[in-house]
Amino acid sequence: VIEAGIVGLPNVGKSTLFNALTAAGALAANYPFATIEPNVGVVPVPDGRLERIHAHIATEKVIPAALRLVDIAGIVKGASTGEGMGNKFLSHIRNVDAVLHVVRCFEDPDITHVDGAVDPIRDIETIELELLLADIEAVDNALPKAQRAAKSGDKETKARVSMLEKAKQLLDAEKPLRLLEPTPDEAKEAKAFGFLTAKPVLYVCNVDEEALPEGVNEHVRKVQARAEERGGETVSVCAKLEAELAELDEGDRAEMLEAVGLGEPALAPLARAAYRLLGLSSYFTAGPMEIRAWTIPAGATGPQAAGVIHTDFEKAFIRAEVYGVDDLEAHGNEKAIREKGKLRIEGKDYVVQDGDVCHFLTSA
Ligand code: GDP
Repeated sequence: VIEAGIVGLPNVGKSTLFNALTAAGALAANYPFATIEPNVGVVPVPDGRLERIHAHIATEKVIPAALRLVDIAGIVKGASTGEGMGNKFLSHIRNVDAVLHVVRCFEDPDITHVDGAVDPIRDIETIELELLLADIEAVDNALPKAQRAAKSGDKETKARVSMLEKAKQLLDAEKPLRLLEPTPDEAKEAKAFGFLTAKPVLYVCNVDEEALPEGVNEHVRKVQARAEERGGETVSVCAKLEAELAELDEGDRAEMLEAVGLGEPALAPLARAAYRLLGLSSYFTAGPMEIRAWTIPAGATGPQAAGVIHTDFEKAFIRAEVYGVDDLEAHGNEKAIREKGKLRIEGKDYVVQDGDVCHFLTSA
């Protein structure tokens, strides 16, 4: 399961958003999506194609892909040196695949901003500096040890030293480790460190209701410009509205969404942006037991995609039978798709496409 960590300054709306997303997720899917711990929740990845498949294939349950959200509160100025909740919280981010950085883009005189006025760029810089300092500390701790170990000369420790040296250069120039260009051996070493500034970032702009449905205001424009410059994604949400939506039943929710001009709750665009950011796609399996979405890195081959269902399937892969949701809608069922010659037989080198419906034949 893909894991995303929510960071941001205090009072920007992190908990509001986290609670809204996990509550909405629990309602939207008949699957144990819920808050696991106070700050960890698993939410479904909304995907309209699942229902399009379900319209033609009877099944016991429909299972969307899942996204694990971790609310990492407690990053304040000085977190990397142990102030506020401190380092313990930063360590929670080391394991996540992506960072959702919630940025306050709403004006509200009743909600105090920790640093005075609303200024998203200053906020982003505050948080990113803490992440940078935490990485500097990790590198400074590890480098001397790695240099000593490298004297014995094995390949791994040498790669670790050269990676750490490259990392140090970037960090000293206040550049994030996303810009590190590691050799394959160095990349392996870097991955084990879980550097915070190496994670892909999605800026989540928390806006006023007035900014909807586009979700763009002067603050958001600044964040977008920064993301464009440095290669991140942005998405706008109104956390307050999402919290209200999460408490409504389906009918009232649809009505409220329409009133503000939104087509869907924020979980959907947020999940799509996270998938884009991480270069992920989805494929489906469909049968009488379940219709299910699976997450794969773009470019995954048939065996790799099968391996997501069960590790043994990767080696045991023989071939895949593949069709598209469009084929299903055009012909009505799998039998007709096969008879029309639209069922494709794909081998080991096939690159699974986003939206493929697959049956895998394996020797497992
Ligand atoms: P956190 O410290 O980042 O987790 O922030 P919270 O989620 O606790 O929110 C801080 C305060 O801001 C709460 O009083 C929220 O009700 C309020 N808040 C959150 N999102 C919005 C929003 O979109 N608009 C407005 N006006 N207030 C919000």
